Amino acid sequence: MSTIPKIVILGAGYGGILTAQRLQKELNYNEADVTLVNRHDYHYFTTHLHMPAAGTDSIDNTRVSISKLIDEFKIDLVKSNVQEIRLAEKKVVLQDGTLSYDYLVIALGGEPETFGIPGLAEHAMTIRSINSVRFIRQHIEYQFALYKADESRTECLNFVVGGAGFSGIEFVAELADRIPELCKEYDVDPNLVNIYNVEAAPTALPGFDPELVEYAMDVLKKKKVQFKIGVAIKECTADGVLLATGEEIKAATVVWTGGIRGNRLIEAAGFETARGRVKINDFLQAPEHDNVFIIGDNSLMFNEEGRPYPPTAQIAMQQGVVCAQNVVAAIRGKEFKKFVFSNKGTVASLGKGEAVASAFGKKYKGWIAAQLKKVVDMRYLFIIGGIGLVLKKGRFL
Ligand code: FAD
Ligand code: NAD
Repeated sequence: MSTIPKIVILGAGYGGILTAQRLQKELNYNEADVTLVNRHDYHYFTTHLHMPAAGTDSIDNTRVSISKLIDEFKIDLVKSNVQEIRLAEKKVVLQDGTLSYDYLVIALGGEPETFGIPGLAEHAMTIRSINSVRFIRQHIEYQFALYKADESRTECLNFVVGGAGFSGIEFVAELADRIPELCKEYDVDPNLVNIYNVEAAPTALPGFDPELVEYAMDVLKKKKVQFKIGVAIKECTADGVLLATGEEIKAATVVWTGGIRGNRLIEAAGFETARGRVKINDFLQAPEHDNVFIIGDNSLMFNEEGRPYPPTAQIAMQQGVVCAQNVVAAIRGKEFKKFVFSNKGTVASLGKGEAVASAFGKKYKGWIAAQLKKVVDMRYLFIIGGIGLVLKKGRFL
C-alpha cells in the first residue's frame, strides 16, 4: 500500500491553479499524489467575465484548457462537481466518486450573495462563470430581437445592473459600449435604451478613491449610464426591480452584482463562516484542521487595521503560492511560511480605452489606466501560461 501523501485541491480558479502549478514545481518525484478537481476542464479569467457578458469580447479569450496549464504526468485532473466535504473522514464526495486526502486545499471561489432580497435568485442574472455570462450575452441580444418583433415591449430596452461595486461598474461600462452596436444591428434608436446602475451605498465603488469614483461616473454618464446612488434594490420581479424609494424600474434584464459570499459547501462541511468565508490563520490553515488550507474567496483574513481583505484574484493568487509552500513544508516537516498580502493596487476598467487605477501610491485615469489594466491581465497570463498564453489570449489593442 502506498504511503505517499494525497493532496487534493478543490477548484482551479486563481487560487487553485496557482497552488497546483507551484506544487508541481516544488514537489519531488513520488513525494505526493496531487489531484486537482474542477467542474470544468478549463480555467476561466473571472476578472474578464464582464466583457463576454456584455458581448464586447469572446468567451474564447476568457478561458484556457487546464491541461495546458498543468503537467498531467504530475497532477491528476478530475473534471467533476464537488458535492460534499467530509472533514472527519478526510474525504471529498464528487458527483461521480469519492476522493480521500491527507491535505486538502479548498479554492472553490465565491457565489453571488443576494442578502435574501426577494426575487433576485429567480429573476436576476449574475456574472460568475462562463455559463452564466453566455446566458447574459444571449439574453441581452434576444431583448433587441424581441423589441423589434413588438415595439410596445419597451421593457426589453431597459437594463438594470444592481450594485455599483467593481463588478457592476466594469460590466455597466462594457454594456454601454455594446448597446450602440446592438442598436445598429437591430435598427433601434439608441435614445430608447436605458441602462440603470443602482447602488445602495452613498457612493459608487464604496471605499475607492473619491476623485477616481467621480471620474469613473463621469465617463459612464457620458456613455448614457443612469446612476441611482444611495438607493437599494428591495425586490426583483419578472417585470424589473422595486427600489427602497418605492420606484419601480420595468426591465427585462436585471444583472445582479451586489456582492459575493463564500461557497455554500464550506458551511455544509461544518466550518464556522462569515457569509461563507472561513477565518483562516496566517499559514492559510482552517481552524481545528491543520491539514486543510482555505484560500481565495472562501477565506477570510484581516489587515493590520483589523479590516477584512476584499476577495480578489490578487489575494487568491498570492495565497495559492504560499499555500503550496506550506503544504510542501507540512509533508517535509519543515517550518510554515506566514502569508503577508502585498497589495499591488486596483484597476477598474471603464470600457474601451478607459479605466481608473490606484497603484504604486498614485492615481491613474483614462488611457494610461486602461494600459495598466492590460498589463495586469497580461502579467497573469504570463504567470500561469508563460509567453505562449500571453500571445494567444492577451489583448494588445
Ligand atoms: P475562482 O477564481 O472563482 O475559482 C473557483 C473555481 O472553482 C472555478 O474554476 C469553479 O468552476 C470551481 N468550482 C466552484 N464550485 C465547484 C464545485 N462544486 N465543484 C468543482 N469545481 C467548482 N479581482 C481582482 O483582483 N482584480 C480584478 O480585476 C477582478 N475583476 C473581477 C471582475 C468580475 C466581473 C468578477 C466577478 C470578479 C472580479 N475579481 C477581480 C474578483 C476575483 O475574480 C475573485 O476574487 C477570484 O476569482 C477568486 O479566486 P478563487 O480562486 O477563490 O475562485
Ligand atoms: P462588492 O461587494 O464589492 O460590491 C457590491 C455593491 O453592491 C456594493 O457597492 C453594495 O453597496 C451594492 N449593493 C448591495 N446590496 C444592494 C442593493 N440591495 N441594492 C443596490 N446595491 C446594493 O461586489 P463585487 O463588485 O462583485 O466585487 C466582489 C469582489 O471582487 C470585491 O472584492 C472586488 O474588489 C473584487 N473585484 C475587483 C475588481 C477589480 O479590481 N477591477 C473587479 C470586480 C470585482
